[in-house]
Amino acid sequence: MTGIEALRIRIRGVVQGVGFRPHVYRLAKSRALTGWVLNGEQGVEIHLEGERAQLNAFVRELETTPPPAAHITAVDAASADPEGFSEFTIRESHRGDTLTVRISPDLPVCADCLKELFDPSDPRFGYPYINCTACGPRYSIVTELPYDRPNTTMKDFPMDTLCAGQYHDPNDRRFHAQPVSCPNCGPHYILEAAEGVQSGDGAAIVACARLLQQGKIAAIKGLGGYHLACDASNAAAVSALRERKFRKEKPFAVMTPDLETARRIVNLSPESEALLSSSARPIVLAPALREFDGVAPGNSELGVMLPYTPLHHLLFAAGAPEILVMTSANRSSEPIAYRDDDARERLSGIADAFLIGERWIARRVEDSVARAGAFGPVILRRSRGYAPEAVAQLPGQRPILAAGADLKNTITLVAAGQAFVSQHIGDLSDYPSFLAHQETIRDLMSMYEIDWDDVLVAGDLHPDYVSSKHAATLPAAEHRSIQHHRAHVASVMAEREAWEEAVLGISLDGTGYGGGREIWGAEMFRGSVAGGLKRIGHLRYAALPGGDAAARYPAQAAAGFLAQFDKLPDLQLGKRFEDSLKLARSGVRTFPTTSMGRLFDTAAALLGFTRGVTFEGQAAIWLEQLARSAPGGDAYPFPFDGRELDFRPLLLAVIEDRQRGRHPAEIARAFHSGIAQGLCRAIEELSEGEIVALSGGVFQNELLLQMIKELAAPLGVRIWINHAVPPNDGGISLGQAALAAFGQFDEPGH
Ligand code: ZN
Ligand code: FE
Repeated sequence: MTGIEALRIRIRGVVQGVGFRPHVYRLAKSRALTGWVLNGEQGVEIHLEGERAQLNAFVRELETTPPPAAHITAVDAASADPEGFSEFTIRESHRGDTLTVRISPDLPVCADCLKELFDPSDPRFGYPYINCTACGPRYSIVTELPYDRPNTTMKDFPMDTLCAGQYHDPNDRRFHAQPVSCPNCGPHYILEAAEGVQSGDGAAIVACARLLQQGKIAAIKGLGGYHLACDASNAAAVSALRERKFRKEKPFAVMTPDLETARRIVNLSPESEALLSSSARPIVLAPALREFDGVAPGNSELGVMLPYTPLHHLLFAAGAPEILVMTSANRSSEPIAYRDDDARERLSGIADAFLIGERWIARRVEDSVARAGAFGPVILRRSRGYAPEAVAQLPGQRPILAAGADLKNTITLVAAGQAFVSQHIGDLSDYPSFLAHQETIRDLMSMYEIDWDDVLVAGDLHPDYVSSKHAATLPAAEHRSIQHHRAHVASVMAEREAWEEAVLGISLDGTGYGGGREIWGAEMFRGSVAGGLKRIGHLRYAALPGGDAAARYPAQAAAGFLAQFDKLPDLQLGKRFEDSLKLARSGVRTFPTTSMGRLFDTAAALLGFTRGVTFEGQAAIWLEQLARSAPGGDAYPFPFDGRELDFRPLLLAVIEDRQRGRHPAEIARAFHSGIAQGLCRAIEELSEGEIVALSGGVFQNELLLQMIKELAAPLGVRIWINHAVPPNDGGISLGQAALAAFGQFDEPGH
């Protein structure tokens, strides 16, 4: 028999709010080990005493079978002095110097809770707030760290004997489940409609389901905000929702009760199904098998998600239409409504009824959007289910706040080296979104207790970005700028913590400030995050008449690209095109640009998309959809001379084939193939065996990614794209944080 030994174990990662301590407790008990476990500032800390074989077995088991929602990034075990504990206990959380413990993202309702939810003999039968240590709200209810009930929006609901008993029982699956509640002690839902108020969870939910069946629009309070819901199969309801919401064409996402129903309306690959059922439960874009009038107009893809709260399951069980439009509750580009009074006020002209829950939401967290793409999963909007998980561990201890870009804004806070990327905030030109941006900065700074005195603030180089201007006013120790497309490339490397790795970075993007008067987009860099990224190539310069405003009018962008041609046939692109052409040729209010987004807009305009866009990137998506409808074939020339990709032969071919009467879908396809071929030729020519990193908004184009994957395969290059943060501007803040950590700044004038 060996003597008693002791181990001190530290576990880092997503280990709080996921049932980690009870899990440890049960493991220790089962091996007759003594000591304690607590939530420390750096993660979970364990002191363990017992026989060596049992100690080792404990560590192995902990590493191989952590709780389902936990995500362990490091386990440090060191021997310690035995203190002679007689039992194993869960200790109260303590506070130390830094707060770098990761708070879990919100979790979907688990199978055990679902079983109880639909079991008439269970005390939580039909209760929309059922949860346990393996499931339920987290980030959306935390007001402060550490994650304990008094620091959540559940603090106003004292537990009754049932809940308290389970909360304190180490053998119960609700042991220390912070949001635990039941119909007797917890919050409830009510339905507010023209007919009056319906209380009682079940009755309210049934009444709401009935209104949805009747084609009405309901505002439904969820985890991180309100949804607007209606029957996707009811064209009148969908069109009413579009009109009232001022959302003309941007696709709506739908929710289906289960995977089987989802399979009937979209074509799901095993990868898409895995994403759809993952604990983040994002909206997944997949090829539509059925068209729903007005839900995703002119789009061959449909965004689908599965129920993730008990309420969603109850709604479907109560007879809600099985294909339900579930879209963020807001008007147009405003941030999602998440406070009850605000929702009532802002949505009063939109929703016929409000299904309101009493648990308040600590911060807005929208649904995430993802796609299973050619190179693996792509996150197009990173929010609920992902935020605020740290996506990288940076070297160095200095806190960094990265302000992101103005479109699809996110912020990144680096605390003790961990890069916490915020939820999607939105377009900051919209004032409420700008307020949300400021709120999120305050929120993360206070949650991690970061002192402004030490902070390095990094913002975009763009002098007119709202985010940059605001960043300059923050009371930080140091303010620095990072060029937009360097940040895009760095975001790919940051996800993999590949700081020193040599990279050929290619950004294909809409717009970003390039210094001076230049608006960049398609850029090539060589270097590394640690050593800096040197610009070595780009798209041939075109003109951008009217500056960033050209992004709203493809015909205006087209004028900027076509101004270089001496003789143009009558393209019939309208008055805006003619006026912009004059502007571009005169050079007035015209900027040099290498924007790939505007090149796509130009092709879209030439093929018939001459109106203004109603949401960002619409013309490019339209072009991609068009190209997808044509079979593969030729590629238009897009030559690379070692420094520049020349768009002139490419556009000339588009114009000639258009004049010749070739089908626009075939032209769109040959345009896409041309872009992919030109890009791969540039990669072939420039590559010196480095990683090739692709980022920027244009890489949301799945057809383009598929083509690149095919063309690049014989080149033997290793291609990395974004998987943890979006390739669009939602990933900018992470890239800024990474470059800032290595002192790789850009100064105005570069
Ligand atoms: Zn559960
Ligand atoms: Fe960008």
